[in-house]
Amino acid sequence: MGRNAKGALRNIGAYFGERKRLRGKPSPALGKCASVTGVKAIRRFTVRTVLPESIAPLGKLAGNLRWSWHLPTSRLFEEIDPVAWEESGHDPVSFLGSVTREQLQQLAGDEKLVRRIQELGADLESYLTEPRWYQGLGDDAPRSIAYFSPEYGISAVLPQYSGGLGILAGDHLKSASDLGVPLVGVGLLYQAGYFKQSLSRDAWQQETYPVLDPDGLPLTLLREEDGSAAKVVLPLPNGRQLSAHIWRADVGRVPLLLLDSNVSENDDAARNVTDRLYGGGGDQRLQQELLLGMGGVKALRIFQRLTGIPAPEVFHTNEGHAGFLGIERIRELMDPSNESPMSWEEALTAGRASTVFTTHTPVPAGIDRFDRAQIEHFFHAGLAPAVPTDRVLALGAENYADGDPTKFNMAVMGLRLAQRANGVAKLHGEVSRGMFSGLWPGFDAREVPITSVTNGVHVPSWVDPQIADFALSHFGAESVLDAQWSKVYDVPDTDIWALRRSLRSNLVDDVRRRLRASWKKRGAADAELTWTDSVLDPDVLTIGFARRVPTYKRLTLMLRDPARLKALLLHPKHPIQLVIAGKSHPADEQGKRMIQDLVRFTDDPEVRHRIVFLPNYDIAMALTLFPGCDVWLNNPLRPLEACGTSGMKAAINGGLNLSVLDGWWDEMYDGDNGWAIPTANNGASADERDDIEA
Ligand SMILES: *Cc1c(COP(=O)(O)O)cnc(C)c1O
Repeated sequence: MGRNAKGALRNIGAYFGERKRLRGKPSPALGKCASVTGVKAIRRFTVRTVLPESIAPLGKLAGNLRWSWHLPTSRLFEEIDPVAWEESGHDPVSFLGSVTREQLQQLAGDEKLVRRIQELGADLESYLTEPRWYQGLGDDAPRSIAYFSPEYGISAVLPQYSGGLGILAGDHLKSASDLGVPLVGVGLLYQAGYFKQSLSRDAWQQETYPVLDPDGLPLTLLREEDGSAAKVVLPLPNGRQLSAHIWRADVGRVPLLLLDSNVSENDDAARNVTDRLYGGGGDQRLQQELLLGMGGVKALRIFQRLTGIPAPEVFHTNEGHAGFLGIERIRELMDPSNESPMSWEEALTAGRASTVFTTHTPVPAGIDRFDRAQIEHFFHAGLAPAVPTDRVLALGAENYADGDPTKFNMAVMGLRLAQRANGVAKLHGEVSRGMFSGLWPGFDAREVPITSVTNGVHVPSWVDPQIADFALSHFGAESVLDAQWSKVYDVPDTDIWALRRSLRSNLVDDVRRRLRASWKKRGAADAELTWTDSVLDPDVLTIGFARRVPTYKRLTLMLRDPARLKALLLHPKHPIQLVIAGKSHPADEQGKRMIQDLVRFTDDPEVRHRIVFLPNYDIAMALTLFPGCDVWLNNPLRPLEACGTSGMKAAINGGLNLSVLDGWWDEMYDGDNGWAIPTANNGASADERDDIEA
């Protein structure tokens, strides 16, 4: 067998074939989509089958997540079998798994298709290897950069995110890939991701935790040369251990390493450390963060050894959750078995010089804090024997006015371990300088060394394919990143309106489908649901509101004056319609109450054809929702929305923003691209403020 065929075979890897359960008792109730509470994940193993050589590149095209923003590739899958593509939920791995041997033989005989597959395979190969923007920067640019985040929202097929922080991390990897930035991502693989949201009959949020099968995901297990799984091990108190395997996802050119504690050598508690994202608190959260930070650096070192990539010269942490990476690097530098181990001060200085910290939230609940005693307990187990624990404790100490001396604060440690720190919008930079000024006593808040870099979105991921096609056919823009976009002003308005109507129609269809499914879950029979077929109108101005549901985002502000909202929805000449979505954190009763209030409003037969709440907001929903809305609404309590990115996604699809001047909108609103919702001045009480801003 030639080298190429072998390479292709290896890449096809876990991506398809017959599935067999290897571990645990086979149970028809469990599997990729089963909802499981208190039952250990059962994993299936995918037996590799052979792709005919002529279509072998399909394996790599499915396995590299670049398809999620490379339209010709996702269209190729669709073309091969539109029905199976739809049924797979646009998931190439599961799609290829469903294609039969006969179909594969047939494909291999279709000359035109084979040519496309070969061309796209070659295109991916050159995308992965050719010099890009970064390669023009010269030799001074870092040869490798590590990026740590507790969550990554890359595609609906890899549900390892809860909201904006994760989506940003996903977009960051994709943009780095397009630019050729030599990034390596590090994170955790959660057995159930975040959670799936549905509603009870009385509109209360229900959470389920479907267990994911890593073998059915676009991941490959990192293996040692002898074929055994590469492994990271951390000592835990009472002689226990936390082991983790390392899964690799390929996000274009960027490898992403995800640590997974669900391995047989762990005891049950250790196996469950990575069970879900933002699930447990206390010790479980601390162990997740120790695994992410310290385990993540160890995983990187293994990856370096196995692939020969250069050691990262910069370590970037996306929020404080991964802050222990700094301690692990200090541990490495102080290791007594080194030829000349560094002192604490030297190691801290060396580590700091190559560390960047991004703070993401001015909301205290968004920042992890542990008891000092907890940190002590874990470090005494030997996580970093040569590193003095009191120095570690001092890094996270809230030893400033209003600080709590019994707490260990991850954001504070992040700032103390980083040479550079930034917020995620201009206004957020300013707020952060004030918020953390206690760490720089004697400095004016203005002089606190926290800058800002405003978040962005990865445009090719979020522009609707219809818009990309429109641009190509109307003014020859080959890519959504093309400078030709100013030519949009030469296009007749009627064409733009037709395009917008088509996008709105797509959304309306999706809403009807989702709403019916939701009502069936809530216990309604089909016969009661004919009304869902005519919910929303593709010719009515459509306003969208979708985001997580923490209090500060004020999901229910629109209900402040229900009669007024009703009048707007039912206006005889110029009605509006509203599409709303969002998950509340499972422990947040207040958030769930807001969802309930809102859903009860939308359940009213008088308005239910003009206002809907869609359960389970996620990337898949977002891809239809942003382009389908004419106006994107955001009404957070200023300045608590650090940046916000959903409005940017609406904007690049031609939507107008209607938003409080917070986060990105505070700096991007130009008087023409939407509307600013005025903010009440600081003297107002919370209630007055809601009244005024509503
Ligand atoms: C963009 C996005 C978010 C973040 O939006 P914000 O405006 O920052 O709240 C959350 N979830 C999904 C699915 C998204 O696409």
